[in-house]
Amino acid sequence: MSAKIIDGKAVAASIRSDIKQAIDARKAEGLRAPGLAVILVGNDPASQVYVNHKRKACEEVGIISTVLTPEADIEQHELLELVDRFNADPDVDGILVQLPLPEHINESTVTERIRPDKDVDGFHPYNIGRLAQKRPELRPCTPYGVMKLLESTGITTRGARAVIVGASNIVGRPMALELLYADATITVCNSKTQDLPGVISQADIVVVAVGRRHFVKGEWIKPGAVVIDVGMHRGEDGKLSGDVEFEAAAERAGWITPVPGGVGPMTVAMLMQNTLEACQLHNEPPLD
Ligand code: NAP
Repeated sequence: MSAKIIDGKAVAASIRSDIKQAIDARKAEGLRAPGLAVILVGNDPASQVYVNHKRKACEEVGIISTVLTPEADIEQHELLELVDRFNADPDVDGILVQLPLPEHINESTVTERIRPDKDVDGFHPYNIGRLAQKRPELRPCTPYGVMKLLESTGITTRGARAVIVGASNIVGRPMALELLYADATITVCNSKTQDLPGVISQADIVVVAVGRRHFVKGEWIKPGAVVIDVGMHRGEDGKLSGDVEFEAAAERAGWITPVPGGVGPMTVAMLMQNTLEACQLHNEPPLD
């Protein structure tokens, strides 16, 4: 293996430690701790695991978390009322509705009901729009975390050729906006892209978020490229793997994220960061 490993666990731990320090400093000044409200609808096991990670991370850094767990048959208007309640609560800085939601509930309607200045997932069209207009406020957690991982390698994104494989609202699209904001030259691929191996082989930075295990082959990677694997798949043996053929890609790449221990821990760390930033936003409104 020639690639250097991008240690997401270590980068995330360092970010969480900085957040803890900032929250301790707030409390020492007599300011309140940030508050995060999480709504988990139903009992999807994967969502329960994610929410549990988020709750534990809050505890570690000193964010006060509240988790509501309404039944899967909650009516949409009742869920919106819960969101409204947290929108109006001055002790709640961040609101997160864990996705996916049951089919009878419209995810966009719920996401858009969250006050943009409490939208710590960064999915609200206002926050996506701010990022698109080079004035980011609360940034989508996973792409924001990927930018921190790239920063940790010391490589320059300015002028780099970046290929994003996947164009979903929660990963691919905001990832493209983040890389564009960082002055990379971007190409975004979706399921209709022609000659994907050819496109990927041109990339200095490849971010893969397709949702198909080992979809990107090692031989497609340009020698020395940075490979960020957002994919997450749990095998029958319980082991996690990503969207990239790790071993083969690591033979060619300059830097690569492992799965687990790459992007995953960063998503939670950036949620903590966003909750702190939202709290600061509420206490210190921006001038513009
Ligand atoms: P998604 O909503 O299913 O989107 C997948 C994207 O991949 C779509 O844009 C789709 O294109 C594109 N795609 C599908 N087949 C393709 C192909 N043959 N060539 C090029 N593009 C193709 O998935 P997602 O929510 O973005 O998640 C992607 C992966 O990331 C999943 O494994 C998920 O578990 C993981 N994830 C991890 C984290 C984390 O914290 N580590 C966070 C979020 C997601 P179309 O637009 O044309 O359909």
